[in-house]
Amino acid sequence: MNDIYFDHAATTPMLKEVIKAMEPFYNQSFANPASSHLSGQKAAAALEDARELVAELVGAQKAEEIVFTAGGTEADNLAIKGVAMALSKKGKHIITSKIEHHAVLKSCEYLEKHLGFDISYLNVDQNGLVDIEELKNEIREDTILISIMLANNEIGTIQPIKELAAVASQNDILFHTDAVQAAGQLKIEIDDLGVDLLSLSAHKFNGPKGIGALFVRRGVELIPQISGGSQERKRRAGTANLAAAVGMGKAAEIAVKNLEKKRKKLISLRDYFIIQLQDSFNNLKINGPESDSRLPANINVSFRELDAESILFNLSLSNIAAATGSACASGSLSVSHVLKAINLEDEYLKGAIRFSLGKGNTREEIDFVIDKLKEIINRLNSLK
Ligand SMILES: *Cc1c(COP(=O)(O)O)cnc(C)c1O
Repeated sequence: MNDIYFDHAATTPMLKEVIKAMEPFYNQSFANPASSHLSGQKAAAALEDARELVAELVGAQKAEEIVFTAGGTEADNLAIKGVAMALSKKGKHIITSKIEHHAVLKSCEYLEKHLGFDISYLNVDQNGLVDIEELKNEIREDTILISIMLANNEIGTIQPIKELAAVASQNDILFHTDAVQAAGQLKIEIDDLGVDLLSLSAHKFNGPKGIGALFVRRGVELIPQISGGSQERKRRAGTANLAAAVGMGKAAEIAVKNLEKKRKKLISLRDYFIIQLQDSFNNLKINGPESDSRLPANINVSFRELDAESILFNLSLSNIAAATGSACASGSLSVSHVLKAINLEDEYLKGAIRFSLGKGNTREEIDFVIDKLKEIINRLNSLK
């Protein structure tokens, strides 16, 4: 029996159309896009078509502003380390937030530890929102980059990126946003947001794993983080993962086409799920913001004085797949840095579970989960 899958923030299944689009590029049209023969030229054309489709997903003016990477993690690394190294003569101060994905936080730590950068970490309120005044106060002469995620992967907070990026631009500072969770759920318009760099990952919007992209606004300089050939206009060396890029392009095309329908469906499921939870339990807390500032697919809930790992284990016995705060944190004993940053009370800290929705989920599945949760929570409470 297949799992009832509520872990789309960790990864999503590939669409049939995506697999179909990729297939020819493994054996028939397998040439290296950097080769000058005809087959190579055809491969290069397919790569550029895919780049165009990814550009359209974020409203980029020029396809050449899209750099393919091996995923969201690499896109975040390239943005942060790449800009830091390019601008280190101008300054060595970066501002980010306390609730970023580890791909951003660890990149910042790397710069701090190995290259003498100074990083400021913005606080967030109980909903996970950063404060624009605090951002303004942290800006210094030597600030070269601000990196704040568009939407959080654990509690779903959508940040006011447009306002934050405007502060950066008024101060002549580059702005990067990790939009990995937002793509496919929210409309992304680069020019409206006013950001200089934006990270994407295909497997979070029904594309293949191991491919992502970084939008780099024209004129923004970066030092490549992988050295070698002159692929990706000298910003990312290595033979392109052509089939995966084509798959990402197809997933992007479908995401654009279905965005409104999918967004509405997810919001309706999410709000139904939250109401069912609130009606069924008196010992829970919904973590994260109200519905307007929350990712359509995100639900994060804590059960008072219960342990998330035991709840998840019991759910998995009923073939229900959910997660603790983040996939990276599950299995480890450490408490989520995001839940700590929103100052979640101790009694709720260890019992946080994330249900993240996708296009295949139904109300019937939610009803099933609620029924199982009732049994599980009762049993765990009686064991205390
Ligand atoms: C999944 C995720 C990443 C990492 O993307 P990969 O393609 O898995 O490396 C980065 N940031 C956020 C917010 C994510 O959810």
